[in-house]
Amino acid sequence: RLEIRNLVRVFDGQPVVDDVSLSIRAGQVTCLLGPSGCGKSTTLRMIAGVEMQDSGEIHVDGKLICDTVFRVPPERREIGLMFQDFALFPHLSVAGNVAFGLKGSREEKRARVEELLARVSLSRHIDSYPHQLSGGEQQRVALARALAPRPRIMLMDEPFSGLDNRLRDGIRDDTLALLKEEDAAVLLVTHEPEEAMRMADEIALMRDGRIVQQGAPYNVYTRPVDKAAVAFFSDVN
Ligand code: ATP
Ligand code: MG
Repeated sequence: RLEIRNLVRVFDGQPVVDDVSLSIRAGQVTCLLGPSGCGKSTTLRMIAGVEMQDSGEIHVDGKLICDTVFRVPPERREIGLMFQDFALFPHLSVAGNVAFGLKGSREEKRARVEELLARVSLSRHIDSYPHQLSGGEQQRVALARALAPRPRIMLMDEPFSGLDNRLRDGIRDDTLALLKEEDAAVLLVTHEPEEAMRMADEIALMRDGRIVQQGAPYNVYTRPVDKAAVAFFSDVN
């Protein structure tokens, strides 16, 4: 379970994340949805620990991992990360990429790598290198790599935006199925209402650094909080 309380980040005297609180259970997908520049990525970076908040607290499974004085370093937060550009290691094979954050014996690591690659239908590419893969295949390797260490929390920043339109819906569904199997608490950032409607158990609608509405996709969509929310959702079909 991920809990963030009253998170604030100020740049140049302007709050870009302004009192954001969220709670996400294991097995649940929450979409942080909002227009460009509203503070979504900054929120994610603070949870990941690569950016420091000015105030507020972050808890994972009831344990404090970060407030303004205490801070668990990013690599010890048991958080999986996946970004828009996938950021695979170009000099490592697919197996090397997926094994990268794993601990344990060679055999244990190999077993986990094989399990995940089978799960994303990439077993035959186990010895390939990232440049030999299509965009959709690279996305699946990045997903397998992020999930390999069994993170309690999974943070995803626009993980489908680099993909071909024709592939995107299928990859969204496959990704969602795997996230559910692995039972992580997922916070997925997107600026596309359609994506949030498709993937979220809960939508947190963000604007100007604040969460202006939060709830089940159907409720957020059918009962928009104000005119700006109506306009924002108007491009969902
Ligand atoms: P997008 O959908 O375009 O990715 P976003 O919601 O992820 O947008 P953020 O990247 O969180 O937005 O940025 C929020 C605001 O904070 C923006 O106005 C941005 O210019 C500002 N900002 C982000 N990082 C910094 C920084 N290191 N220094 C100054 N301002 C920053
Ligand atoms: Mg962003």
